Amino acid sequence: MTQAAFLIIEDQASIAGLLKSELARLTDAPIEVCHDMAEARTLIDSGRSIAVCLTGLQLPDSHENEIIHLLKAHHIPTVVLTGTYKEATRQEMFELKVADYVIKESIASIRYAVQMTHRLYHNAHRHVWLLGHGHRSSARLLGMLRTHRYQVRAYDCTRTLLADLKKDRPNLLVLDGTQTEPGNHTFDLINALREHYVPSQLPIIACESSETISNAIKLMKYGVNDFYNTSFTPEEFYVRVNQNIEQAEVYHKIERLSQRDSLTGLYNRRTFFARAEALLAEIRTKGGYFFALMADIDHFKQVNDNYGHQKGDDAIVFMAQCLTEVFSDALVGRFGGEEFCVIGKIHDTREAEQSAETLRARIEADSKAETGVAFTLSQGMTFSAQSVDEAVQKADDALYRSKENGRNQVNAVF
Ligand code: GH3
Ligand code: MG
Ligand code: MG
Repeated sequence: MTQAAFLIIEDQASIAGLLKSELARLTDAPIEVCHDMAEARTLIDSGRSIAVCLTGLQLPDSHENEIIHLLKAHHIPTVVLTGTYKEATRQEMFELKVADYVIKESIASIRYAVQMTHRLYHNAHRHVWLLGHGHRSSARLLGMLRTHRYQVRAYDCTRTLLADLKKDRPNLLVLDGTQTEPGNHTFDLINALREHYVPSQLPIIACESSETISNAIKLMKYGVNDFYNTSFTPEEFYVRVNQNIEQAEVYHKIERLSQRDSLTGLYNRRTFFARAEALLAEIRTKGGYFFALMADIDHFKQVNDNYGHQKGDDAIVFMAQCLTEVFSDALVGRFGGEEFCVIGKIHDTREAEQSAETLRARIEADSKAETGVAFTLSQGMTFSAQSVDEAVQKADDALYRSKENGRNQVNAVF
């Protein structure tokens, strides 16, 4: 199946070119450009799958809003970019259920329109859950969320929502009219949710119907990320939905950057230690056994010297892949260079020793075919320690023994 395309409809060639190049910076998906209504109609009639459209309002061969009606008839979510601002037109646009209406007044507004078009395309993978209790505004909200292409689930009952949250988590939870449910106040629900999920894990926006701001502030103090008033306009609702989802996404991106090594995607040393401490603490309280393993590529300096830094990087990435495959249930971290550490739960020591041997044999057998450079791996293991520091030190001592004894082998220190 061919990938659904973006559609840009704009009669001014220079603006059309600018929109296309701005959009192409954000996506690899196909972008179709039409310069008038007739071209757009031909493209749509050809059966080309269009996910989202960014269109001008005045086209040389169409009456006012005709293009919007055409796109609406084909259920194509649309961002309108227009040269002139008229309040009546803006209202009319949202009545026609356009996804957004942007004035072409600056490069910033053009970028916003392009970014919004791009977001709409990917909203098909974003999930919004709405707790509405059959509230009157809920049907309207659901329609608006669908116009923005979100995957939407509607709940009438708090209990069902909480049960589903145990299995799955949306990008955003919208609480609409929760105050109407007897015996289950919004604040109690927010308290219950925030016991399990911090605001970046589960962004929540809630409807606030009172005249004063104090109730809305109270909602936010209890852990709601944002609110909208009952007299909201589609524009306000969309801005709040989009911003709250985007903030959580940016947070996760930054969190990932701070916790992971950029070359391999493995935990960096700091995060590895923090998670390993938690794992050992759990084993101390609940009982059980663990292994710690240090792994280091043999004569890696020679790989770099003989084949170049890029090949060295390929070898490190291949190592990381093998480690995560062989120790799929354990914590794997990159300690810098070609040195890796693994800590995980085990039932008996043989199980971990066998995995280490599997890894050693796999690197020896496959490294040449996978990276173009044949290399081997030395490993050291241990199975008891009072702290992560001690475990890493003992595994490192065992690794040193493997290097001393001729490399390409596994040793353990008990
Ligand atoms: P041994 O068998 O004793 O472990 O020898 P070795 O050459 O592997 O040991 P050494 O620790 O001296 O060499 C590590 C080299 O790894 C030195 C450094 O230039 C290189 N290195 C460190 N980080 C990176 C990286 O991210 N990419 C690449 N390509 N090389 C790296
Ligand atoms: Mg080495
Ligand atoms: Mg080293």
